[in-house]
Amino acid sequence: MDVLKKIPVREQDAKERAANWQEVSFGYGKEEAVEESQRCLSCKNAKCIEGCPVSIDIPGFITQVKEGNIKEAAKVIGRSSSLPAVCGRVCPQESQCEGKCIRGLKGESVSIGKLERFVADWARENNIKPEQPTEKNGRKVAVVGSGPAGLTCAGDLARKGYDVTIFEALHEAGGVLTYGIPEFRLPKKKVVQAEIDNVKALGVIIETNVVIGKATTIDELMNEEGFEAVFIGSGAGLPKFMGIPGENANGVFSANEYLTRNNLMKAYAKDYDTPIFEGKKVVVVGGGNVAMDAARTALRLGAEVHIVYRRSEEELPARVEEVHHAKEEGVIFDLLTNPTEILTDENAWVKGIRCIRMELGEPDASGRRRPKEIVGSEFEIEADAVIMSLGTSPNPLISASTEGLDVNKWQCIVADELNGATTKTGVYAGGDAVTGAATVILAMGAGKAAAEGIDEFLTESN
Ligand SMILES: Cc1cc2nc3c(=O)[nH]c(=O)nc-3n(C[C@H](O)[C@H](O)[C@H](O)COP(=O)(O)OP(=O)(O)OC[C@H]3O[C@@H](n4cnc5c(N)ncnc54)[C@H](O)[C@@H]3O)c2cc1C
Ligand code: SF4
Repeated sequence: MDVLKKIPVREQDAKERAANWQEVSFGYGKEEAVEESQRCLSCKNAKCIEGCPVSIDIPGFITQVKEGNIKEAAKVIGRSSSLPAVCGRVCPQESQCEGKCIRGLKGESVSIGKLERFVADWARENNIKPEQPTEKNGRKVAVVGSGPAGLTCAGDLARKGYDVTIFEALHEAGGVLTYGIPEFRLPKKKVVQAEIDNVKALGVIIETNVVIGKATTIDELMNEEGFEAVFIGSGAGLPKFMGIPGENANGVFSANEYLTRNNLMKAYAKDYDTPIFEGKKVVVVGGGNVAMDAARTALRLGAEVHIVYRRSEEELPARVEEVHHAKEEGVIFDLLTNPTEILTDENAWVKGIRCIRMELGEPDASGRRRPKEIVGSEFEIEADAVIMSLGTSPNPLISASTEGLDVNKWQCIVADELNGATTKTGVYAGGDAVTGAATVILAMGAGKAAAEGIDEFLTESN
């Protein structure tokens, strides 16, 4: 074994998987996991923990894997995370725990994410359930939204003895884990539903098809329904567009709509009748995880797919692994390219997209080099569908229907980073609804902090 290198993980062949919906990565088996765990130095001052927004005792669980005690490893992870099989699959580990790993200073970091996934999958397959709450305290807390922020906050409060009800607008729980991230990256039944069931097993009730701000309001929940505190984890589901000519044409979609049809409403499955436009040549605009997911979905639906992104490969915000997988599967990357117009035929259907080449100038406020147009470099890409993946912002429904809840100029709810407290007493918030589109683990970290904040508030007001 070369201790400087990660134990490689087995994956589906790129050509084969580009035509199916099964999970790309097979994950580690026990032997591979134990071997990989031996690369961990069990650092006394473990930097990896600092890189984890929910502070999993990483060397603690890896030590258990080294000794083959996978059940104990699952217990260690379970103390900090209610969604380990999800996080092991989708967290940007390279910029979090693995980015801080001491082993990574010389050679490759320990494969913390793959080890987490192995432990969580093993626990599920061996029917290991999370530790149950101590006694119930009879106090009611409402959670709006069942994404990673809401599930984490609800799970942590239930463990502390609260009666928690999650209100979810859609017909299925999970937030982006269910409606956004595709099956080939995050299996819905096997992984997402199983982890939601673990949260339910703590006593959390999930009411689906309830839009807070329409069916009922936060004020009504608190004043009439007996909820003493509310956590808002309603995400950032409102798509942004570019405002270029032709953007209203038939065949232009937001990545959110496109992915929701396919993931939540199973458009890809023959036994569902959800319609989806199966383009022959699809252009996806954007360079984040959402763009990669939309591109790889269109590819699996049979299209030739181009990703158009205005900066270079180095600035692509998507996880390195996702870019690598997209390329392997045959997605074409048009980098340093920006759309200027969507071209339409006489029936207002997309027939192509006009773009301009870009070059990188000085760094902007985000620290990334600012892209500049190269004069006279316009060109066209033929396409019958364009998927816009330019980011999302929070839906203003909740803030507009809640007295005294402040938002900033991007419609993000104003909340204290340390405990999630908003400008309205008893109301807490976290995840994408506060930060704008971010990551699963940051949303979970915010849900955790808010659970502490709510517990402190309700203990003091007892
Ligand atoms: C396609 C896609 C791919 C991604 N890939 C990754 C990745 O690989 N790694 C990663 O770390 N992050 C990824 N992200 C980002 C990550 O999924 C989000 O940052 C995270 O899900 C945010 O969690 P949340 O709980 O704040 O919100 P969400 O997951 O958005 O959940 C919010 C929930 O609230 C519900 N809701 C909204 N309004 C109301 C209302 N008025 N009443 C009741 N319910 C309401 C919504 O229906 C939703 O279920 C991806 C995002 C997308 C869209
Ligand atoms: S920093 Fe890396 S080597 Fe050190 S304890 Fe964490 S995972 Fe192990």
